[in-house]
Amino acid sequence: MRTYRRAPVEFVRGEGTRLWDADGREYLDFLAGISVCSVGHCHPEVVDAVREQAGRLMHVSNLFHTEPMAQLAARLAESSLGGRVFFANSGTEANECAIKVARKHAHGRGIAEPEIVSFAGDFHGRTYGALSATPGLAANEALGPMLPGFRSVPLNDAGALREAVGETTAAVLIEPIQGEAGVYPVTDEALLAAREACDEAGALLILDEIQTGMGRTGSLWAYQQTPVRPDLLTTAKALGGGLPIGACVATPEAGEVLGPGDHGSTFAGGPLAATAALTVLEIVDDPALLRRVRELGAALRESLLGLEEVREVRGRGLMLGVGLEEGIDAHALGADLLGDGLVVNVPEPGTLRLLPPLTVEAEECERAVAALHAALVAATRAAPA
Ligand code: PLP
Repeated sequence: MRTYRRAPVEFVRGEGTRLWDADGREYLDFLAGISVCSVGHCHPEVVDAVREQAGRLMHVSNLFHTEPMAQLAARLAESSLGGRVFFANSGTEANECAIKVARKHAHGRGIAEPEIVSFAGDFHGRTYGALSATPGLAANEALGPMLPGFRSVPLNDAGALREAVGETTAAVLIEPIQGEAGVYPVTDEALLAAREACDEAGALLILDEIQTGMGRTGSLWAYQQTPVRPDLLTTAKALGGGLPIGACVATPEAGEVLGPGDHGSTFAGGPLAATAALTVLEIVDDPALLRRVRELGAALRESLLGLEEVREVRGRGLMLGVGLEEGIDAHALGADLLGDGLVVNVPEPGTLRLLPPLTVEAEECERAVAALHAALVAATRAAPA
């Protein structure tokens, strides 16, 4: 179905930060499959592990134990909240699990009609639960009705958030840095307000780390650079290095809420995707790599801010939103850059989003900034005075 506006390029091969199209043209990939290919395209360790696992066992269903899933659950828990993990096949499904945990937890506290609070601009996915928690898309009446029990407050309005959280609140579900909206970080003040309001109400704090997690911001999880710790976190995208897998990771208490029959999935956490994820985690959960993400991100931000046409740079680590000066058409610029061999994304008019692989080289960052500079100069020259 025609649900995507695709660019007129067909990619056929990838290696590290580079992609090649069907005509053999080379591109520098500063989008990485929308933050999926964080260890670069076709990382040899991931390719070898997946090949080996594919020849051994690909699927048995969740009616049985499998080693890669058990190891991955342990590794994810150890690295974050310490409790149980539910596996899914995508980000939106990871959030469906978190929503179910929050609602069942609320029912356990005697709340008949539990509510979930998010920020305006949040993106949590496209299935109906996650969609209902995505205020911008939930407003599309053609897809209605949405699920009941979701509300939103303006981004970073700590006062409105405190007011919205009360006796009937099941959870606050937010992204630590809004990705799809254009890379808008949540302030520490708003995060603390969310944590405190949830604690007072007995509600759960759910952080959607589907885009921010797996090292993207320079720590394995973005919350680790903030003053709060959630009760649940969701991850997907980069977790599988290109294979579809998502997870909802819980604290020990929140991990006990769902029981047999409450949730499930045929494919989720299967040996192939779990093996890929274990290998990606092994590569990404490395202090040296994470330090490099912070350093390269800081250097990239500095270089971008040196461009006359760049108004601001938002985000952390290698998740950057480049706010352009008024009058610059970011969509046209994105198309020009693709024509010049640089893949970026335009999440909103006036913003470029950069999400290069975490393994990007400093020299590749310099080349990307030079390409952006050249395209900006050409665009402003072409624009009528
Ligand atoms: N949550 C966030 C923060 C996302 O960025 C995305 C995807 O862009 C999702 C959820 C949905 O993930 P998926 O497309 O894998 O369902």
